[in-house]
Amino acid sequence: RAGRTDGVPHTASRPAFADRSIVTADGGVPLITGERVDYANFDYAASAPCLTVVADALSAALPFYASVHRGAGHHSQVSTEAYERSRRSVARFLGARPGTDAVVFVRGTTDALNLLARSVPEGCTVVVFESEHHASLLPWEHPAARSGRVVRLPLPESPEAAVEAAREALRAAPEGPRLLCVTAASNVTGEIWPIAELVAAAHAEDARVVVDAAQYVPHLPFSLAETGADYVALSGHKLYAPFGSGVLAGRSDWLSEATPYLSGGGATRRVSEHDVLWNDLPARHEAGSPNVLGAVALAAACDAFTPEALAEQHIRESVLLERLRSGFAEIDGVHELTLWDAEHERVGIVSFVVDGLPAGLLAAALSAEYGIGVRDGLFCAHPLTDHLLPEGHDQAVRASLGVGTTEEHVDRLVGAVADLVARGP
Ligand code: PLP
Repeated sequence: RAGRTDGVPHTASRPAFADRSIVTADGGVPLITGERVDYANFDYAASAPCLTVVADALSAALPFYASVHRGAGHHSQVSTEAYERSRRSVARFLGARPGTDAVVFVRGTTDALNLLARSVPEGCTVVVFESEHHASLLPWEHPAARSGRVVRLPLPESPEAAVEAAREALRAAPEGPRLLCVTAASNVTGEIWPIAELVAAAHAEDARVVVDAAQYVPHLPFSLAETGADYVALSGHKLYAPFGSGVLAGRSDWLSEATPYLSGGGATRRVSEHDVLWNDLPARHEAGSPNVLGAVALAAACDAFTPEALAEQHIRESVLLERLRSGFAEIDGVHELTLWDAEHERVGIVSFVVDGLPAGLLAAALSAEYGIGVRDGLFCAHPLTDHLLPEGHDQAVRASLGVGTTEEHVDRLVGAVADLVARGP
């Protein structure tokens, strides 16, 4: 085996997140005037640009690109090692409990939650808030889901009310398995949900909790062991790695008993004319040729975002977020969408509307005239966004921050919105 890993990226030994650099396109972006400006990306919550350490890890893995687990050749063995080492990095990043939690590579958070919906014990009661992203709201109601009753809770008026509502709903649920699905940080408001309290309330009712951490992990450390959560889902492309890789991590018992929701090679141990013997975890739920490069990229991001690096990043982002929110607060006609108290802790996401300016028009003007990239719409969380929209608005604009956001970007966005408001519809 000596020499097998020669040249293979060993991301854990890289300097952790030293310069926060991201891969950017040279030459900025074009404005409607033909001039080019530095791109002010405010769409991190949709997909974050690739970290350079992630791009480096990908380049280092490319020469060894081969299908994992099934090849006897050198490159296949090297790729298999890189894939399994990536799983260990992700497990570390998420504080997975050795011997209890499995780490399953999937395509993203949507895929992770659909996998769990088809892996819960038959008839499991699922409690979910109306505020969820559709990826965590809907999989439980899919015809192929194994969940039984789905209890949708109305938007809670405060974090404390959320804990109480979850507790009561779980207490009132029929005997049998119960699961609470909750998002750690809202993709619409950025508000952070009281995960530790929700887990404690759910566990007191003998229920499990799955946390949608898609918007949380790019900003703050999350640990299964520390929060006590039973499952967590995330997407690589929101964590500064390319598309197509994600994770479902958590208690292995339900997952190891469930029939794979994707059938195919790798998920099987033995197939005969009349029978299929499914594999153990994690291969059981990773049918088909796995996304090795996606796993390597995601692991490189996980290695870069040490708890210290994330804590430092959160402080930096909070300062920029405050600058943005106070800038908006000074412009007449700009309204921020928040579910809870304006002071409630949040990650770097602000959704807002501007009186007299339709969201689509505003987003298009910000791009064409100022080189600012935002998102407009209902953000795949229709019930929540509909509820938060002020009278007379049917869509909102979302500005989300990340490692490349600068004070100049924030000032440009605030200044641009002020200009557009002054100019009128
Ligand atoms: N959950 C939240 C909170 C999200 O913001 C998103 C994406 O926007 C998802 C789930 C779905 O993630 P993906 O599209 O990567 O599956």
